[in-house]
Amino acid sequence: MFVILFGAPGVGKGTQAKILSTKFNLRHISTGDILREAVKKGTVLGIKASEIMKSGQLVPDDIMIGIINESISDRDIETGFILDGFPRTVSQAEALESFFTERNITGGVIIVLEANEDALIQRITHRVACKECNSIFNTDLLNDVNNCPECGAVKSLYQRQDDKEEIINNRMEIFRETTLPVLSYYNEQRPVCKINGLQTIEKVAEDIITALKDAKLIPATV
Ligand code: AMP
Repeated sequence: MFVILFGAPGVGKGTQAKILSTKFNLRHISTGDILREAVKKGTVLGIKASEIMKSGQLVPDDIMIGIINESISDRDIETGFILDGFPRTVSQAEALESFFTERNITGGVIIVLEANEDALIQRITHRVACKECNSIFNTDLLNDVNNCPECGAVKSLYQRQDDKEEIINNRMEIFRETTLPVLSYYNEQRPVCKINGLQTIEKVAEDIITALKDAKLIPATV
């Protein structure tokens, strides 16, 4: 099976993808993480993507489609995967559908995590990420804002450049204008399930699992 986690920046796609990935042994494919890794390593892709990401813009479709085509392996197709942060444009969604058709990939669902923008901006300005394991934390809930409570890395927590207040409005606008139309595209293509992303992490996860059961992608007994 595959799951596409869709939603605005800060809505919790990465957090939920990690939970689902562990619980159902699905590969978590985050295009944001792939790009950040490339930036960290200073690869050609990383050098190209770095400034675009810092300003909150989208990396060009041809690059992103190439990354996804290379990232989804035969094994992922067999065992299942979660897409987090892709597709973000209608062209990316169309390319993904062609890829699914070519590779004969069936059995997927789009999970939409919904939340209002003000709540998300509030959340994003209070979050930090771990340089080592990419986990995301809310600073209000951390006792120690330096060390990662997930992987234990020392002084690894940082605020992403694109999470800074001046960049977020830009990212939200891009989401509204360029990414949201992907949903209208999918409404005609695949099962789409909407979930309130402002609930607790546990309740959002529970709702996603119910949606996967309803879509018969996992057994009702799980
Ligand atoms: P994320 O971690 O998903 O919020 O992604 C961080 C940044 O990476 C985005 O603001 C974009 O600059 C870039 N990015 C990630 N995924 C995509 C995508 N599917 N298309 C274009 N740019 C992307």
